[in-house]
Amino acid sequence: MVAAQQKAGPVRTCLGCGTKAPKTAFIRFVFLDGGLLIDRKQVAPGRGAYCCRKMECYHRFVRQQKKLAWALRCHEKDKMVSIAPRQGLDVEFASCLV
Ligand SMILES: [Zn+2]
Repeated sequence: MVAAQQKAGPVRTCLGCGTKAPKTAFIRFVFLDGGLLIDRKQVAPGRGAYCCRKMECYHRFVRQQKKLAWALRCHEKDKMVSIAPRQGLDVEFASCLV
């Protein structure tokens, strides 16, 4: 039933540590305008990548270039797209933790 689904929500995986949890437990990232952005409201269109609300996961998360490219579907054939975090993204991430 709908009620059960609303309670649990869709399960997502943290790319930093591999933990699985409802998407609301994570911070969502999207790839927009050639850069990685935090999707605070989890409503941006397209594929999202998820990370625990932990700084240590964030640091692992941004180094997972290959996983990020797949999760965000921004690779082109065999050519890897660089998914470098924008300057200040770590600060923005930290502000999401409180
Ligand atoms: Zn994690």
